[in-house]
Amino acid sequence: MEINRREFVAVPAAALAGAMVAGASEAPWQRRIRRIGQLNMTEHDPVALDIEAWADYWASLKVDAVLVSVTGILAFYQTKVPFHRKGRFLGNRDFFGDCCAAAKKRGLHVIARMSPDLNWADALEAHPEWFQRDAEGKEIALGEDPRLFRTCMFTTYMTDYMPAIMREVNSLYDVDGLFTNAWPPLGHLPVCHCAQCRRLPASGTIDYWEKFNARTVYLWKLYDSIAKEKRAANFYFANLGGGIRSSANLVQLGELSEWFQCDNQGRGGAGLPMWGCTLQGRVCRAVQQGKMATNVTGAWSTGPIRWRNIAKSRAEARMWMNETVASGMVPYLHIIGGETGMGEDRRALEPAREFFNWTAKHDSHFINKRSIANLGVVMGQRTQLFYRPPHGVSMPDYMNGLYYALLEGRFLFDFVHEEKLAPEELNKYAALVLPNTALLSDAQCGQLRAYVAAGGSLLATFETSLYDERNQPRRDFALADVFGIHKAGAVIGTNGNAYSARIERRHAILDGLAGTATNIIAGAEYRVPVDPVAAPILTVVPGFVAYPPELAYPYPSHTNEPAIVVRETGKSRLVYFPGDVERTMWRAGHTDLSRLLRNAVRWVSGGQQPVTVEGDGVTELFAWETQAGFAVHVLNYTNPAMHRGLIRKFYPIGAQKVTMHLPTGRRVTRVELLRAAADVPFQVDGGTITFVIPRVVDYEVAALHSA
Ligand SMILES: [Zn+2]
Repeated sequence: MEINRREFVAVPAAALAGAMVAGASEAPWQRRIRRIGQLNMTEHDPVALDIEAWADYWASLKVDAVLVSVTGILAFYQTKVPFHRKGRFLGNRDFFGDCCAAAKKRGLHVIARMSPDLNWADALEAHPEWFQRDAEGKEIALGEDPRLFRTCMFTTYMTDYMPAIMREVNSLYDVDGLFTNAWPPLGHLPVCHCAQCRRLPASGTIDYWEKFNARTVYLWKLYDSIAKEKRAANFYFANLGGGIRSSANLVQLGELSEWFQCDNQGRGGAGLPMWGCTLQGRVCRAVQQGKMATNVTGAWSTGPIRWRNIAKSRAEARMWMNETVASGMVPYLHIIGGETGMGEDRRALEPAREFFNWTAKHDSHFINKRSIANLGVVMGQRTQLFYRPPHGVSMPDYMNGLYYALLEGRFLFDFVHEEKLAPEELNKYAALVLPNTALLSDAQCGQLRAYVAAGGSLLATFETSLYDERNQPRRDFALADVFGIHKAGAVIGTNGNAYSARIERRHAILDGLAGTATNIIAGAEYRVPVDPVAAPILTVVPGFVAYPPELAYPYPSHTNEPAIVVRETGKSRLVYFPGDVERTMWRAGHTDLSRLLRNAVRWVSGGQQPVTVEGDGVTELFAWETQAGFAVHVLNYTNPAMHRGLIRKFYPIGAQKVTMHLPTGRRVTRVELLRAAADVPFQVDGGTITFVIPRVVDYEVAALHSA
């Protein structure tokens, strides 16, 4: 394996195969979809929804498919499956059939949507074995409506009841695929004490996770085989998402899943960063090998206080859709309920109509063959699920802190799953970042060691490699030899004043810090003490009392404990931070840590990026090789609602200068700004193209037409 510091480089054969399928016209339809729509049907809709208006709306958005509710909780057709209760307003109607016919008349594919998670008291009485139980063996009622009870995925509910509905729908309707909502669970593992689950390892353990994954794969394959009983081209898929904290093993699902459906509908109110959608897109890219991924935008008001029937801010909805396509996913609009024909709040309808029609004009620029980035960020799914961080620490903070620093540094990067560290996955990256990737197997550490031996560079923080893949602590870092570090004691937290870092000598990682008016910079909240190293760059000044100020002074003020360990081996550059610097940056907002992280990432990646975008503003950048050439995406996050939705309005940023190294033999004929609807002049010099995007309101896509 040869590691390249500069794009363009060898494309993994598997990635290329997936990409070619995604773009090719002979590919199955579900790999060619560009837009998806769903009005999630309520019990009242059989007498409220205007089916013709519904179908016309989706056709006007140029969607490729609609999801229509079969359900499992309430039937939307004249079912004969026992315990599939018909809704109060269904009467004798074939509501599903009417919707299906109206969609088909307009050339739309129809996916039958089911929900296997809940059923009623009559089912509980007849089939007590179908339902989840608490520790006392009692059924678990739904908090919002105690007439409904939670079903268990390990029972025959999933292998008898759901298949009966699926086969009934197949027999009655011209459906193109089957979909389940609410299963598998997102971001958490079930806790159930039913007779089946009592035989399983305790929930929350890795042993349980393995059973959970095996059951998920088994049911997925079962449902897919039922979908194919209707037509060989039909398929099954499920509601997924959960970002880096997905509950099911993402690599297994990535292999199974034709269509990765991200139930990631938006933010609102709570302190969540604007990049919640792009982060999901990066996860999909890491596990899907270019197959279909859709991200749901809830037209309704998402967040801790919800209004299912009221539209969210138009700007927020638009940014979520921007992020969807920028990160390589397909946009999917989700509306709930068709009161008075098509919902009472018609503000939900127009933003997506405008956005979807805009993308429809430019599809060939949104069909991506591969991501252009030479920096990989390991996403550590096992660490997200099983690592126990210090008391009170929130797991997403590690990735959010790193993510923010990468945006501030305007880096292009991909996510890399820890189970996909083989040479053919890594050889496009000049450097990998491991943000507190605590759980790594010996084999994975061996792959990282081989990557470094081949010239790759690494940056890791805090407890990276201190646990094996089963969450068993190690006495020392498994990557100790790679970084030249040894653990010297248990994790040290902060009581009062956090530790600081003393500048010992100049280094590129300290640019803008060393040589200024200070000898010391911010440390972090937690650190792993490590053995002294030769010629340290930063050393730890231990924390001390913050109050009273009489005692707020460093003592001792100088130690030989490293606050960073930096080494170069051959072509590889290696950086280890003993502190949880990325997480501390997220919590404290300290600019020293942001600068330190940006400098360190720049240094390990050799200072070379395949694409740079220079200008003011906080942006997120993507660059893709597309069906039509190349595309550089600029998302403008410069907004007071960047860390807490909903966005009220956009704050435009000025000129952004783009520089991109073109692959050998590729010629660009035109640079078109898809949002501004204007071409811009460009220069090509020695395989490097430069041009300027004059202004970005919320989003711009510079489409490089290339033969
Ligand atoms: Zn159970």
